[in-house]
Amino acid sequence: MSQSTWKDQIKKKWGPHSHCPICGKAMPTDKQFCSQNCRDNYHGSQKKQKKKSRIQMLFMVGMMAVLFVFLFIFS
Ligand SMILES: [Zn+2]
Repeated sequence: MSQSTWKDQIKKKWGPHSHCPICGKAMPTDKQFCSQNCRDNYHGSQKKQKKKSRIQMLFMVGMMAVLFVFLFIFS
């Protein structure tokens, strides 16, 4: 009688694998993404995020400058 648990069976069936960070599909561990499409999606969203954070930075710097000017005028 074999004592293999369902976890062992899954391991045997799927082997070592990781999941795509974009769509969550199972894929080989040596790959970062399951497909070129997901790779593009990942890099695309990262670019967007970078742009967004840059805008936020500019906004913060702008606010600081305005604050500084106000302090300078009213002091
Ligand atoms: Zn994917």
